[in-house]
Amino acid sequence: MSENIKVVVRCRPMNQMENESKCENIVEINEYAVSVINPLARHIPKKMFIFDSAYNMITNTDEIYNEMCYSLVESTIDGYNGTIFAYGQTGCGKTHTMQGDGNWSNSKNSGIIPKCFEHIFERISMATDVRFLAFVSYLEIYNENIRDLLNTNESTSMLNHSLKEIPGIGVSVPTLTTHSVINAKQCYDWLNLGNKNRVTAATLMNKKSSRSHTIFTITLEQSPFFTSIVAENDLGGIRRGKLSLVDLAGSERQLKTGARGERLKEASKINLSLSALGNVISSLVDGKSKHVPFRDSKLTRMLQDSLGGNTKTLMISCISPSNTNYDETISTLRYASRAK
Ligand code: ADP
Ligand code: MG
Repeated sequence: MSENIKVVVRCRPMNQMENESKCENIVEINEYAVSVINPLARHIPKKMFIFDSAYNMITNTDEIYNEMCYSLVESTIDGYNGTIFAYGQTGCGKTHTMQGDGNWSNSKNSGIIPKCFEHIFERISMATDVRFLAFVSYLEIYNENIRDLLNTNESTSMLNHSLKEIPGIGVSVPTLTTHSVINAKQCYDWLNLGNKNRVTAATLMNKKSSRSHTIFTITLEQSPFFTSIVAENDLGGIRRGKLSLVDLAGSERQLKTGARGERLKEASKINLSLSALGNVISSLVDGKSKHVPFRDSKLTRMLQDSLGGNTKTLMISCISPSNTNYDETISTLRYASRAK
């Protein structure tokens, strides 16, 4: 089972502020190993963690895609479900890794999500004996409420959509909008629209986007070219794969002393869903416990049909190199190695 679950670490470069204040690089990356110096106790040995791979500050997203994402995306085209997560402290590169810096070019540092679009539609265009249908949806989970980021009709996008488990199909949010797409550019336009809606909603509610999880989903349906029309719900002949691309809420300790009301509620919901995710992944990796605690959060319920079994999962844990982030870096590495 666990070869289907991969965990990697990506360390970003120092940012301008860290450079200006002469922060020290305490992270060393060596193939699979990440070692961290404790800046307050240099005499003790570095803490070392081992992953499926570890990427230093000069690695570009192209390399990560080719090494870790390519085969996962191939298997979703073949009809299996797959999930790619970005985890880590705010400011460490989750959105940079997943979405890139906003340029829709096939550059080395465009994000994993646009690279998936390109990859999928290139494959689809080469298919000769099967026909593909592709659909996208994009949602946000904030305070355990689901918001549809692609529904321009605001009154319904504000609804707290509920989840349903449909036998044979998986988990679904029936009220969520899904949009048929025929090329990578259309996917990218939906992604951008969703991002705009997310920012607008966040401003209206006076919240930070780092406190919500987003899931961009591409569903691919594949059927042979020459079958007679199949009855509704008859999946005979149709293969369906779903790729979930997840930008998680910042993993930093949210609970500042004295947090009350909304902030306290937010903090406890973020902790709840990230720890639920950690528990689900470690129980899948462990493979021993019969009970996988999917039901503990909206996030894990949402992804129930995309984690474990014959699905493929990649967790990219993003960290900062700076001594000033030591505690958060260690906590991210601990979380990530628990998932191994
Ligand atoms: P997060 O989504 O985890 O809060 P971001 O992806 O927004 O973090 O990254 C914060 C800043 O750092 C952004 O300006 C981003 O462009 C930059 N950054 C993050 N990772 C890298 C990287 N690997 N290489 C270059 N710049 C990066
Ligand atoms: Mg982000």
